[in-house]
Amino acid sequence: MCGFIGIAAQPGTDVSAEIYDGLISLQHRGQDAAGILSLDGAFHLRKQNGMVRDIFSPEDMARLKGNIAIGHVRYPTVGAGGEEDSQPFYINFPFGVGMAHNGNLTNFLDLKGRLFPQENICLQTSCDLEAILYAFARAFQGTEDVAPLRDRFRAAVEGVFQRSLGAYSVVGILGEGALFAFRDPTGIKPLVIGRRDTPSGPEWAAASESVALDLLGFERVKDLANGESFLVTPGQDPEFVSMREEPHRPCVFELVYFARPDSMLDGLSVYKTRRRFGETLAKQWIETDGPQADVIIPIPDSSRDAALSMANFMGLPYREGFIKNRYVGRTFIMPDQEARQTSIRRKLNPIPLEFEGKDVLLVDDSIVRGNTSRKIIQVARKAGARKVYFATTSPPLRAPCPYGIDMATRQELVARDRSVEQIRREIDADHLIYLDIERMIDAAKVGNPDIEDFCAGCFTGTYPTTEAKAHLAAIEEERLAAQA
Ligand code: AMP
Repeated sequence: MCGFIGIAAQPGTDVSAEIYDGLISLQHRGQDAAGILSLDGAFHLRKQNGMVRDIFSPEDMARLKGNIAIGHVRYPTVGAGGEEDSQPFYINFPFGVGMAHNGNLTNFLDLKGRLFPQENICLQTSCDLEAILYAFARAFQGTEDVAPLRDRFRAAVEGVFQRSLGAYSVVGILGEGALFAFRDPTGIKPLVIGRRDTPSGPEWAAASESVALDLLGFERVKDLANGESFLVTPGQDPEFVSMREEPHRPCVFELVYFARPDSMLDGLSVYKTRRRFGETLAKQWIETDGPQADVIIPIPDSSRDAALSMANFMGLPYREGFIKNRYVGRTFIMPDQEARQTSIRRKLNPIPLEFEGKDVLLVDDSIVRGNTSRKIIQVARKAGARKVYFATTSPPLRAPCPYGIDMATRQELVARDRSVEQIRREIDADHLIYLDIERMIDAAKVGNPDIEDFCAGCFTGTYPTTEAKAHLAAIEEERLAAQA
């Protein structure tokens, strides 16, 4: 999972500082590496592993000139995650194009190992964006130089669609002075377009989440549809072209965990959706005769909105019983179980007052490996809870994600082949409930009935694109080999 933003402003302005601010607002989508690419006739690039705030010096920002720029934050999925894999990427020959993306190509290994070598293209990195860049460049180059830019761009996106399988939302710059974006034919990853009016004319932006647009004063114009492209040259009207008719399957896990609650994704308010998940879970708890709790306590941060509406619906007090230290890094990426357990404890400290002598209902957005829930339940008991019940605002995660959400391999998922009762025992809860999949999907659809369905592959093991399973098997093999 990654995040990006691109801006095309009126000539004579520099937009990199705004890209920087946009990236800070998208930092939750990836803390591994970040980069900015700008264009003022020539490309200027700065990228590195690390957090946005640590990468760009005042000198870098002064160098990143131009009225068109894109920025990226990376969350590693495929590949070693080295410096050379950080984005954006650009090439100057046979013409200038730069790109950043969010997603995963499920046929990347085939493209890299077989298809591109047949055309004498040797990919240098283990980042699948490079394959998209070359597929785009190949098709762009194949068109007549004299053809209008729009036609060449469309042919280039078509070239990407023909070769790339999986999930990818892309933002980019054409050296001729244009900003572009496109979304894969299934539309799994989000991509929103915004516009702001200035005295010298309209300016345009494309981003992973609308929060980045809000903060920079852009109005949300639309979410790109699946298989749709966007191209704008400052001073001209933008072009939106719908290039595919496949069903749209946005990722439901964005709504559960990944996106910021103040974002709108495909016309859905993340905040309202999480509130609806909470209410639906409350109904399910009551219908299934869940035990009576004294208090509802969220596991910060992403379950708060759902826990609050669950508490309202059930008429129970809502209390912040855990305080999170936001300066502890992600527990998810720690190398082994023991390190993860220790750092979960350091990250979340209880307020015993909220636990002593009470039957507490803890609410989290998901259970992945089960480390967080197991540890937190222990902490709650130690803090004096009498009974510890656990509810999650999503169904059991039974299968990995081939599209870029790093959720561990199948073996590591606590729910992979266990019943809910077995998981309850694993995490040592007195009662456990998962939000039912149909109820979750229905609750998400309420916000935008135009969405017929979501990608819920991590819950069902059924994926909306071909090659996904083969790709997962290859990743699993790579990870097991690395651990051996
Ligand atoms: P675990 O200890 O593996 O069960 O972790 C579950 C916790 O990780 C939940 O509290 C989620 O909020 C969080 N989480 C879920 N998915 C991800 C992800 N892809 N990356 C990082 N954290 C996640």
